[in-house]
Amino acid sequence: MTTTELPSRARVVVVGGGVIGTSTAYHLTRLGWTDVLLLEQGSLSGGTTWHAAGLVGQLRASESGTRLVQYSGELYARLEEETGLSAGYKQCGGVIVARTEDRMTQLRRTAATADAFGLDCALLTPDEALERWPVMRVDDLVGAIWLPGDGKANPTDLTQALAKGARLGGARIAEKVRVTDVLTRGGRVSGVRTDRGDVEAEVVVNCAGQWAAQVGAMAGVSVPLHSAEHFYVVTDQIEGVHPDLPILRDPDGWTYFKEEVGGLVVGGFEPEAKPWVSPDRVPYPFEFALLEEDWDHFSVLMDSALERIPALHETGIRKFYNGPESFTPDNQFLMGETHVRGFFVGAGFNSVGIASAGGAGRALAEWVVEGEPTSDLVAVDVRRFGDYASNPRWLRDRVVEILGLHYAVPWPNRELESARPLRCSPLHARLAARNAVFGSKAGWERANVFAPAGEEPTLDYTWGKPRWLAWSAAEQRATRAGVAVFDQTSFSKYVVTGRDAEASLQWICTNDIAVPVGDVVYTGLLNRRGTYESDLTVTRVADDEYLLVSSSGTTVRDLDHLRRHVPTGHDTRVVDVTSAYAVLGVMGPRSRYLLAHVSGEDLADFRFATSRTLRVGYATVRATRITYVGELGWELYVPVEQAGVVYDALTAAPFDVVDAGYSTIESLRLEKGYRAFGRELTPDYGPVEAGLTFACKLKSDVDFLGRDAVEAVRDTGPRRRLVSFVVEDPEPMLWGGELVLRDGHPVGQVTSAAWGETVGGCVGLAYVADPSGVTSREWAASGPYAVNVGGSVRPVTVSLRAPYDPDNARVRS
Ligand SMILES: Cc1cc2nc3c(=O)[nH]c(=O)nc-3n(C[C@H](O)[C@H](O)[C@H](O)COP(=O)(O)OP(=O)(O)OC[C@H]3O[C@@H](n4cnc5c(N)ncnc54)[C@H](O)[C@@H]3O)c2cc1C
Repeated sequence: MTTTELPSRARVVVVGGGVIGTSTAYHLTRLGWTDVLLLEQGSLSGGTTWHAAGLVGQLRASESGTRLVQYSGELYARLEEETGLSAGYKQCGGVIVARTEDRMTQLRRTAATADAFGLDCALLTPDEALERWPVMRVDDLVGAIWLPGDGKANPTDLTQALAKGARLGGARIAEKVRVTDVLTRGGRVSGVRTDRGDVEAEVVVNCAGQWAAQVGAMAGVSVPLHSAEHFYVVTDQIEGVHPDLPILRDPDGWTYFKEEVGGLVVGGFEPEAKPWVSPDRVPYPFEFALLEEDWDHFSVLMDSALERIPALHETGIRKFYNGPESFTPDNQFLMGETHVRGFFVGAGFNSVGIASAGGAGRALAEWVVEGEPTSDLVAVDVRRFGDYASNPRWLRDRVVEILGLHYAVPWPNRELESARPLRCSPLHARLAARNAVFGSKAGWERANVFAPAGEEPTLDYTWGKPRWLAWSAAEQRATRAGVAVFDQTSFSKYVVTGRDAEASLQWICTNDIAVPVGDVVYTGLLNRRGTYESDLTVTRVADDEYLLVSSSGTTVRDLDHLRRHVPTGHDTRVVDVTSAYAVLGVMGPRSRYLLAHVSGEDLADFRFATSRTLRVGYATVRATRITYVGELGWELYVPVEQAGVVYDALTAAPFDVVDAGYSTIESLRLEKGYRAFGRELTPDYGPVEAGLTFACKLKSDVDFLGRDAVEAVRDTGPRRRLVSFVVEDPEPMLWGGELVLRDGHPVGQVTSAAWGETVGGCVGLAYVADPSGVTSREWAASGPYAVNVGGSVRPVTVSLRAPYDPDNARVRS
């Protein structure tokens, strides 16, 4: 298309002609949205895409992530037939080697995960690995895995093939057209301004790669990513290296290898990355451009590569590639619709953009067409970050750590160390003085556990039992037997007000929230498919006012969901008050005495699931009787400036009050079978699967979002069901993600697991699926069940009820 032909209107404008933009345009046309205009400021693939190494590894941490990449491989293999242009895709398989026992444990867990996802993966001895990759040295290896589904693509050819497919589907593609502004009207996108004129549009999709922060800013949307320099070299030809040679990854040496014209692409993910320019300064033009060679920085990868491939000592280097790629604060990409209606993002691909493009482009196109995602994309949802994450200095410091995480051992409960602290509770200094071991969630510093006096307050990482487990076990005992205080300030909090607040929330919430003032209701929030978008507690504060509380990581997402689903014409406002209140959880059988003591009130008549004002010392707080740990307890909602006074009053009282942290909450909630959003409750599961129909007003005739879909699943029976389990042997340590076996066959995966001090073993939750298609309660609750813990199969006791529950009738396997 020539520039003079730029249309004045298109239903969708895609900004950016890299692999992600072209894939999105291609999939939009496949879904029948043919009025698509893709604008590229330079030439197709000329941003980051052209210099990618082209590895297409299949396995991801989540099932939905894995399915996404699996689809990429299928698509790339058939593009030539469809478009006449080859994507240069070859399914050559992949070998991942382990130099250490810890890495081998990770690979065994990977193999079990592959089993859970129905993906081929085999464990290899070092000699078997050598057979598949004869050019490497194996005498220092512990073992390896083989992933036959892995492949490689030519990124430029892939982009051209996707672009051709999009054009064949009706899309128009205009190169050398730069978007200079995003036009909005009344909170909705209305088009783009370009250096060739304005284009009206219903939907604008920001696929601008490392420029995506700049394009986001044009719409008032923060897109938190930062570029880092990323390196590989291409060698001269090496004997024994042929086009069918699998991809090789040596994560303990931070390196990967791929055949190219008889030589090797040698690249990697060094532990300390080199940030490039601030996101607002990424230059234009910057087309088919590379950065300076930096052999000093690359040496950590090259030295390791020389250890693995001795032939490299005698092989020349043909070309050094240093290209910028954008990385996000948590190493997951950024996708979906933003708070500006109709303005979508697909960017920040953390060096897996080629592998992800097929699936991500399809998922993004479906999101555009359906108005909501069609599967669980919470982990990549751009709304997981608030504005705090768009500070360039914060991003710069964070990106140094993020790139290296690709090949670091993905320790369970690993905490990011860089760019901290950022968001601190008003109690932060007090908790630090009490030896809190902080983790971070959504930028918040949160106490995971407290180290005893004299111990260094740091986390150690292992697949087994870490040293801090004993500290958490003590906190668990104290909560079950006495009273503990948890700083839960990072909760997301919203005030919903207005004449129609009740009616709006009745539509948005699964549970009945038309309750008397002072009552508290636990509820799910579903989408049209009847699966979870959030779960939260709703407190009726007044006839026309509610306080909603949800988890820490979902502040922006939940706010957006709530606002989006207030029915048109309702007089209802939703305000984020997260930063206005500190939250103190006062939990344990002695919590009533403690609160009675500090408030001077008799709390005998304070019913469960009610909330009212309480005076604590000089302070005035909202006390809500509720629990996420399975004990008598209250959450105190305290104006931030009074939080210190309340904490001091609680901890000074003569009740042996113990400080406790989030690791302890995790154990206690799992013993009680309580579900968590993002683990058990996701957009892939609904209330029937999760065993939460009791929190749905299905017996009433009040309609709610997702109700029809929930009723349909209830009537036909769910494909999977959530069960609680306890590992019979107290020795193995589980962290979540383990494969679940029934009668020796894979039937599911553990969603959450932790040490349960009260039950004396690891406890967890897992979805299990009867291969016959429908999972009955009886089938789910009858064994024999086992879990695969890093290659070792351990029997578990399974129940539909909580492990820590006097009435529990557990099934022993
Ligand atoms: C050295 C290196 C090796 C890599 N190896 C692999 C690998 O092996 N496997 C893998 O999966 N991934 C790999 N990647 C990552 C992969 O290259 C990227 O994730 C992917 O190319 C990102 O694609 P994109 O479409 O988001 O970005 P880009 O390709 O940068 O596309 C964005 C486009 O938007 C255009 N644009 C920006 N602003 C505007 C505007 N205002 N108006 C119009 N157009 C605009 C740009 O010109 C650009 O062409 C590697 C990356 C590097 C740097």
